[in-house]
Amino acid sequence: QFQRLTMPSASSDELYEMSATFNSMMDLLESNYDKQKQFVSNASHELRTPLTIIESYASLLKRRGMDRPELFAESVEAIHSEAVRMKEMTEQLLMLARHEEQWNLTVEPVDLLEQAQQLAREFDTAYHRRIEIRVDPQLEQQPDLLSVQTDAGKLRQMMFILLDNARKYSVDDITIELSLDHTPRQQGTSGKRQHTAAVTSNRCIKIIDYGIGIPTAELDKVFDRFYRVDEARVRQDTGGSGLGLTLARRIAEALGASIRLESVAGQGTSAILTLPEAPTSMPSFSANSN
Ligand code: ADP
Repeated sequence: QFQRLTMPSASSDELYEMSATFNSMMDLLESNYDKQKQFVSNASHELRTPLTIIESYASLLKRRGMDRPELFAESVEAIHSEAVRMKEMTEQLLMLARHEEQWNLTVEPVDLLEQAQQLAREFDTAYHRRIEIRVDPQLEQQPDLLSVQTDAGKLRQMMFILLDNARKYSVDDITIELSLDHTPRQQGTSGKRQHTAAVTSNRCIKIIDYGIGIPTAELDKVFDRFYRVDEARVRQDTGGSGLGLTLARRIAEALGASIRLESVAGQGTSAILTLPEAPTSMPSFSANSN
């Protein structure tokens, strides 16, 4: 049990400052403790749901499996998919619990198009879901712009979460789009005549679906741990943990990237992943000298 201690405020400046610091430390500890308690309670609740389903199908099989073989396929299917969900949730929980400093990032050149193509092949094999890849013409002409310095595994995991959401929250026969874009940005001193300027590039990965969309009021909340829009409906339809976007955003922060969502309820969602700027070999900018 957490016991709250307070120090009386004193009149002397030093003592007053010390007591204020101590009290705010206690506030911080208390709020962390509450958050941890909440986290453990949410996690247990989320894990208990698939476990209950597994338990009830297993006991059904035990009681009736012998004389009702038609129950077999349904039960095994349910047990398998709930076990997969639990495994995914446990992995995501473990990653969130281990703070990103301990993630041991391995930074290396990663080809964005290769990553996208590999994920598209996986979605095709695993879910028969088509991912259409589009590449900005400028990126196509300058393949080095398609290469980013990042952790390949973490980037892949983040892209997987966003693609998997696009798959889960849209119907099966509609293609998911993945576009690779970039926005060149000039950086240099203004005013004086400039012959060269640093050119940097923001690389964007946009994942677009034409699915159920997210109401505007929920757009920020979906990044909260365990938050799911319309809990009852999404759980039944998709399984899912409410942890995917939380983890994706944490990974983005660790990689210096950012994720935002644009969505229209009933029409679809775009997840925009912006990777850190990198100097490019774009032709240098020359100001008009006249
Ligand atoms: P999960 O998908 O496992 O529930 P996430 O954290 O990835 O968890 O997403 C949180 C919630 O945000 C989802 O439950 C869903 O309600 C909503 N959501 C996320 N991505 C999309 C999307 N592309 N289209 C519609 N809703 C989405």
